[in-house]
Amino acid sequence: MLVYNSQTHRKQELVPIEPGKIRMYVCGPTVYDQIHIGNARTFLSFDVIRRYLIYKGFEVTFAQNLTDVDDKIINRANEQGRTAEEVAEEYSCAFIEQMHRFNIMDPDIRPRATREIKAMQEMIQELIAQDHAYAVPSGDVYFSVRSDHAYGVLSGRDLDQLRAGERVEVNDEKRDPFDFALWKAAKPGEPSWESPWGLGRPGWHTECCAMIHRHLGTPIDIHGGGADLIFPHHENETAQAMCAWHAPLANYWMHGGMLQINEEKMSKSLGNFYTLKEVLDHYQANAVRLLMLQTHYRAPLDFSFERLDGAVSSLDRLVTCVKNLRWAAETAPQDGELNDYDRVLGAAATEAHAEFVRQMDDDFNTAGGVAAIFGLVSAANKYLAEVGEDTATSVTLRCADTLCELADVLGIDLSKASAASELPAELVDLAREHAGYGGTSPDDAAVALLDARQAARKAKNWGLADAIRDGITALGLVVEDTAAGARLRTKK
Ligand code: AMP
Ligand code: ZN
Repeated sequence: MLVYNSQTHRKQELVPIEPGKIRMYVCGPTVYDQIHIGNARTFLSFDVIRRYLIYKGFEVTFAQNLTDVDDKIINRANEQGRTAEEVAEEYSCAFIEQMHRFNIMDPDIRPRATREIKAMQEMIQELIAQDHAYAVPSGDVYFSVRSDHAYGVLSGRDLDQLRAGERVEVNDEKRDPFDFALWKAAKPGEPSWESPWGLGRPGWHTECCAMIHRHLGTPIDIHGGGADLIFPHHENETAQAMCAWHAPLANYWMHGGMLQINEEKMSKSLGNFYTLKEVLDHYQANAVRLLMLQTHYRAPLDFSFERLDGAVSSLDRLVTCVKNLRWAAETAPQDGELNDYDRVLGAAATEAHAEFVRQMDDDFNTAGGVAAIFGLVSAANKYLAEVGEDTATSVTLRCADTLCELADVLGIDLSKASAASELPAELVDLAREHAGYGGTSPDDAAVALLDARQAARKAKNWGLADAIRDGITALGLVVEDTAAGARLRTKK
């Protein structure tokens, strides 16, 4: 399997430190507000990378932090007249809630900065002891970039050029303008902890590095984040690890491309953002995932609602195809003779699977993986049009299973999509009214309603049978009578 390593600027064979195991870390959010869909794209990319590694049989340990102490949180708390802890708690919960809605797997380890102070202080002490860091009279502690000959190795930057080219904050206490704070002296009213350097709080770069060392051990296999984190955040993380423990922080550095709007990076500061929450309030997670995964994780992704609507239609095509295959499979003779059409479809399923794996093995090319899935959708639709649903054989079930399996690796859950999500929730009320249905699932409600209609027809209670059908029609659904029995479908 090939993985693009940002540090070496090339694709490399993935060789885990411990055979069969991958330890990975992805920088988490600063919890001061709802995350936007740009942030969500990065978290999604690494969710799919993780899912694919698991699919390939690796035992993956995945850690992601919550930055719950930071200037942005303190500023937000001051604006709102609340404590920084309250703000951090609210948005930590909000973040986890939205990740669940977006079908992002929970990390195995979710350290929070405020609960890791000891590990960070220990790392800072290591750095001071080895002359890579220094405390100043104000109580700040800085990392000395000049003390690290390898500084710039990850981002490919040269300190002298950086000094000449970039304006950096002037601070008399720093020995070099690029020295960065490992520990920040507390200002009145800010969250702070006791330390050998007085009351203070950790710097952002300190946090991830110390947590990785404590929870995963260094080096880890994969360290990820958005490409905007390469400098200075990841450069500073790796400098600290190398200087403190004389080993790299990670063997593979992976960085996701930016989600953009009108070719401009989506960001809070530019104000050109949509929160994940507002997008998921209107669109299915599956459709948003599909849209994002149609682009390779390293490439920039231009977001628009037109493109998202396009993904909704594509998803619908996929879901309908799986449904039609399943319906066909229900009526198919399981031991029926395979004909030429079946053999072609069977081969298409095998090839789609192999192509998906080839694409994903090539630096997690989800765009190619999605194309393989839709290639199989086209083959299946052709098959169904040619043989008709009623004469299909057991090959259709295998094809549906392949589509679901591959979509599942991308975190696109077709079991849900093909069940409740397409049938309106009002169906449950209708089923309660006519069929005495007591559950909550629209799918089960549909079955109950259809059974009630069938029973009414049998009993020649035409009035009731028609009332049920009219109610169903009013919800934008149609009743289809097939060899396998009646079923409900959304009107096209
Ligand atoms: P932050 O809370 O700003 O540290 O961002 C959390 C994650 O989102 C980081 O991995 C960032 O690299 C990533 N990120 C921020 N903006 C974007 C964007 N427009 N597109 C993709 N990822 C982003
Ligand atoms: Zn980090």
